[in-house]
Amino acid sequence: MTAGFQLLLEDFDLEVKLMRNILGANDEIAALNRKMFSACGVVVMNLMGSPGSGKTTLLEKTLARLVDKIKIAVIEGDLFTAKDAERIERQGVDVIQINTAGGCHLDAPMIQKACASLDLNAIDLLIVENVGNLVCPAEFDIGENFKAVVLSITEGDDKPLKYPLIFKESEVTLFNKIDLLPFTNFDLQAAREDLTTLHPTIKIFETSCTKETGLDDWTTWLLGKVAR
Ligand code: MG
Ligand code: ZN
Repeated sequence: MTAGFQLLLEDFDLEVKLMRNILGANDEIAALNRKMFSACGVVVMNLMGSPGSGKTTLLEKTLARLVDKIKIAVIEGDLFTAKDAERIERQGVDVIQINTAGGCHLDAPMIQKACASLDLNAIDLLIVENVGNLVCPAEFDIGENFKAVVLSITEGDDKPLKYPLIFKESEVTLFNKIDLLPFTNFDLQAAREDLTTLHPTIKIFETSCTKETGLDDWTTWLLGKVAR
């Protein structure tokens, strides 16, 4: 083995160890968050998906259907702006904005800090809109009860197999912008098969926020998660 290659291996080892430490520390705070959520009787959904998959619009439509039924608060993760938080605030719910300053995911300490400004006892459902990204948001437990991933039709049907972790970790997938199906080569049957191969018990919804399809089914399911 060359010295250079040996160094490369040691470097890689160090990186793996560092990542383990980071995730370990995160998991400890996530466990505390989970305890706190459970003590306050609040159900927490970690909403993930690519930039442009339609997370915020879906959230607006979801809130419009649920605000009269349950008490909801939202944590908005965004790289730099407060644009999404402003949109959500107009739905009449409490919103806490987290700017990650370029960070590509939310972690448990960020959620812990944000929750200090929320009255968790007064909330039934806390929705966390994660940073738009199909990779590392799935690696960081924030203490949520379940993860949801939004995949828009325009992103392509290959995404479940290309980003398996996020689809394995999520209890539910929303095929969003389903109204655009006729204008793309997205193979819905293939995507469904890939998804259920990865995660046999995953719940799938087909939604369109512009055509208002699938949203009642989705919100009824979500309401059931809170009632449980
Ligand atoms: Mg958004
Ligand atoms: Zn990240």
